[in-house]
Amino acid sequence: MTRGRKQFESDQPLEPLDPFNPFEPLNPIRRRPTPKRPFEAPEGALKWIREPLTDGFEEEKAIKIYAEVPSEDEDDIQMNVTAGKAEVYRSRIDKAEGFSGIWELVKDTVKDSLGKHRVGMMLFLDDLPLHLGAYHPLGTNNIVLNRTLVQIVEAATKSKQHVNGFVYSLLVHEYLHALGHVPEAEVRSLVYKISSECFGENHIVTSLAEKSPWALLKGIPLRGIETPRRAMEIVKDFEKPNQGYIV
Ligand SMILES: [Zn+2]
Repeated sequence: MTRGRKQFESDQPLEPLDPFNPFEPLNPIRRRPTPKRPFEAPEGALKWIREPLTDGFEEEKAIKIYAEVPSEDEDDIQMNVTAGKAEVYRSRIDKAEGFSGIWELVKDTVKDSLGKHRVGMMLFLDDLPLHLGAYHPLGTNNIVLNRTLVQIVEAATKSKQHVNGFVYSLLVHEYLHALGHVPEAEVRSLVYKISSECFGENHIVTSLAEKSPWALLKGIPLRGIETPRRAMEIVKDFEKPNQGYIV
């Protein structure tokens, strides 16, 4: 017997309706699974090693190299840094301007090799006998450099690198005296140590340290040259006032 059961009524329990979310797309786009090897690149091609794009920027005291790194995994990166300390110092001595430019290099290379430094040195130029390159009066802040000798080297070699190397060799020698190294033999071996460590072998600075700065004047009859007698002069702005505070 029906007790007023309506036509569309059912005694089946109602299926619960999914709550309607108005923000969901009605027909969600189904992504196809991406192929493992896009564009069918051969398996091996993905493992080829290629040279990364690199760019270098030369700064005053360093050469910065930026390199594109195509690998995601750090272990896959092969890095060979060949531009080292020697390249930086070689480039700096080629470009160094004047006595103060070379002096900066003297101080940086000594600090680099020996960890020592001293500020407040002054440079004087004087006409000295030609067998004497420079001297440091003990107990002073002064270095006296043989002006005539430097001028002879400038005239004899047209290479800025050679003139700078010559002046560097004389100044680094006197700077080591000023740092407390008194015996000549000790200073000479330290000059060689610093030169070879910072400029590498096969460089004019190291070669002058090994032989003698006078090796540059080989073949020039120094005895026949008359040395003028001019007044001693101080080299202005030899040491930049803020030097020694730059780390
Ligand atoms: Zn000496």
